[in-house]
Amino acid sequence: MPYQDERAGLDAIRAITESGVVESFRTEMAERHTGQPLPLPRFEPCPAGKYRSYVVAIDGSNIYAPIPGALPCTEAGLVSLGMVVIDVRKLESLPHLPASGAADPGELRRTEKSVSLGMMLPGQNAAKKDGTMPRTWFREILNNELEQAQLGGESFADTLYHLLGDGRTVRCPNDECNEQNVGIPTPRSSGECKTCGERVFVSDGLRIQEQFLENDSPTECHHRVRDALEMLALVNTLRYLAASDRGLRAIANTAFVMDGPLAAFGTIAVLARAVRKEIRRVQELVERQQSGATLLIMSGVKSGPFVDHAEELDRAPEPNKRLSKNHFWLPDNDYIRANIVARGSQQSKPWGELTYYGRPVVLKTANGERLVLNLAQPEADPPLTNAPRPRVLGDALATAGPLGVSTNQFLALRRVHSHAAIPLKRGTDLIQSLAP
Ligand SMILES: [Zn+2]
Repeated sequence: MPYQDERAGLDAIRAITESGVVESFRTEMAERHTGQPLPLPRFEPCPAGKYRSYVVAIDGSNIYAPIPGALPCTEAGLVSLGMVVIDVRKLESLPHLPASGAADPGELRRTEKSVSLGMMLPGQNAAKKDGTMPRTWFREILNNELEQAQLGGESFADTLYHLLGDGRTVRCPNDECNEQNVGIPTPRSSGECKTCGERVFVSDGLRIQEQFLENDSPTECHHRVRDALEMLALVNTLRYLAASDRGLRAIANTAFVMDGPLAAFGTIAVLARAVRKEIRRVQELVERQQSGATLLIMSGVKSGPFVDHAEELDRAPEPNKRLSKNHFWLPDNDYIRANIVARGSQQSKPWGELTYYGRPVVLKTANGERLVLNLAQPEADPPLTNAPRPRVLGDALATAGPLGVSTNQFLALRRVHSHAAIPLKRGTDLIQSLAP
């Protein structure tokens, strides 16, 4: 760390250079592709497809901050979830502003219906007045919120219980207990660890509390809550719609759009497989009702290795010019491992097999916008990156194309963001208002 008014000297750098460590590192490092334009993988013309009349966009957001003046350092966070239903036909008929060519935001809101929910969760050292420790309080609030949250049908806790399956066990949520097999209770009830007596909730099945450690900011836990809420919102909505004929017809005419990769990381990775199984069940119901109908779930990815790689492919001879309009590419597992996400020693499995419920698609729209999407493929078994072309691909590209408003920007996600995201400044102010 630099000291004030003290500039770093060059002595250390000189010593390193003269010792030859850089040169020997260069000699020993495995060769990587650098500099030259990348060979272009096979982009194909977008297949014909039908765009969906409705888009349901889902996006979560969270803010974590210290409460000023509290000692020892005490922190809390806000987690929100938003969902917007966009009428794509109305959207297309909107007048566009003459200067920017964009739709008038006031008019845009008239094509949408939105819902949002939010919760406040304890962070480091935020204990409850009655002596409940931060980690237990965190679990209690999360479980209570999942019991309350619903979008017309069952609660999020019911959806979670269904995803986890009967008979699921986890390690005891009490971090001082070593019991490895505690049964997950049904929603609206609690179980008990037979070793230490700790109460157990259905939300403990997400195992998020395992990363809630003492004397550490549990920011990871707050992110996981946000991610889990997004997935629960998707499955909750699908299960509600799939329960009626009218709902099944609505699914076949709707694109479900998520933010970020279609994946579950860390302790909640268990959800990826469960979601995959559930969307296959819904796809089968949709098709039984209407032959050839498909469930369309996709997401817009704004950052990460796939976005960087797509940008690199599109670069030569100048940025954003190389890929042909109205073309797409489905990277397969061999390509991904060789060029995008290297295989680690611990990862003998194909890319994304355990964590993803969708596969990457790179698209250059008819308007020339480059998008990196993830697309769920309910009919295929993992690894999806080795599966044939998804059946819903044509509809997905036909729906995504017009919604691509600039590079890596998806209109549907911008809209849900405008409804659901917690503004950084106001979110932080809210947490700081907890100060005595
Ligand atoms: Zn226990």
